[in-house]
Amino acid sequence: MAADMRAGLVVDGGSDLKMILSYVNSLPTGNENGLIYALDLGGTNFRVLRVQLGGKDKRVLDTEFEQVSIPQGLMFSTTEELFDFIASGLAKFVRTEGGRFSLPHGSKREIGFTFSFPVKQTSIDSGILIKWTKGFAVSGTAGKDVVACLNEAMERQGLDMRVSALVNDTVATLAGARYWDDDVMVAVILGTGTNACYVERVDAIPKLRSQMSSSGSTIINTEWGAFSNGLPLTEFDKDMDAASINPGEQIFEKTISGMYLGEIVRRVLLKMAEADALFGESVPEKLSTPFLLGTPDLCAMQQDYSSNLEAVESILNNAIGVRSNVNARKVVIEVCDTIVKRGGRLAGAGIVGILLKMEQDSKGLIFGKRTVVAMDGGLYEHYPQYRKYLQDAVDELLGSEISRNVIIEHSKDGSGIGAALLAAANSKYA
Ligand code: ADP
Repeated sequence: MAADMRAGLVVDGGSDLKMILSYVNSLPTGNENGLIYALDLGGTNFRVLRVQLGGKDKRVLDTEFEQVSIPQGLMFSTTEELFDFIASGLAKFVRTEGGRFSLPHGSKREIGFTFSFPVKQTSIDSGILIKWTKGFAVSGTAGKDVVACLNEAMERQGLDMRVSALVNDTVATLAGARYWDDDVMVAVILGTGTNACYVERVDAIPKLRSQMSSSGSTIINTEWGAFSNGLPLTEFDKDMDAASINPGEQIFEKTISGMYLGEIVRRVLLKMAEADALFGESVPEKLSTPFLLGTPDLCAMQQDYSSNLEAVESILNNAIGVRSNVNARKVVIEVCDTIVKRGGRLAGAGIVGILLKMEQDSKGLIFGKRTVVAMDGGLYEHYPQYRKYLQDAVDELLGSEISRNVIIEHSKDGSGIGAALLAAANSKYA
């Protein structure tokens, strides 16, 4: 991981890790003041948020947010239709502003835009969409600056606002966590997919020649889901990858993230049913259906501590139409635990890889003091066994002395406020 990070920092395309420049050169300090908005588009919902910041002592005076679901049809519409829908939702939200929220005279409302699709960032407030993912197939956006698309739509809505920061959700999570804790250096998302970002020294980024940031550091979005170098893979991993919509890509993501853990377990159980009659003489039909077993199902089964594992039986029956005896249920739990243990431990090893790279470049600056890794995402939040295996691997790889200084911490929903803070930190009016 550390070697691939370095190679990706030398030149674009230098390794599996894209090591994307975020152009976020100033992190929140706590001194941010005033009214700021955030808009988060990353899936089938978008979220709008406003926050009134009160500076160092008062911090967050008030926040309000709203979530709007995107009609299915708009995911296949034109750029103008999609962005008009978003801008109109934002305009409606702005009209409800009141109470403790107030804008100083002479300034425009500013907004931080979290956009979680692959973007080639060109500055802190602009970036070109490389391609839509996650089921979006909106025409005419690829190759365009998504901030310009939003600005034009806001203009059409008569909404006088400016986008001060365009950020990825991992970067927003880091910023949100850093606001409360100066020692946050890394952020990791473990949800449906996975990604990580960290604070890097500008002089350790050979591919960044011209733009020097004043603070001497910047955030790098690793896109670590694409890591694959030396990862040991089983026949189940290889078969799942071959059957996926992106074979050969996102290999690390396919071994550690929420979208895939259930599917790997299903494939193992299918083989055990076929080869060892795990569920009796005939192989249950639904067990052959890809993605029928979800990671939340594994999690629910692993919380069953009863002697006859009745909850396991009912989950297996509901999810994949399988009837099981107690012995089979025990085997199922062991398979779940094995796959989740591997996922959690690999994620932990990835975190150690990032920390090692940082420590090698700045001796003592990571392991010689308290360092915080901010974590978010549904998998990390809801799966206690996964979280424990991740922590165990970090402790084991770093050793007890160093791991005392490394705090792995859940930063719940920090990304919304993080985007607002980055907009404030990059405000044109500050
Ligand atoms: P996303 O990554 O889709 O933006 P989240 O961070 O909320 O959103 O993550 C959702 C993912 O988290 C789900 O796809 C699932 O894999 C995982 N997840 C959600 N709930 C649970 C649960 N109870 N146990 C285990 N994993 C869960």
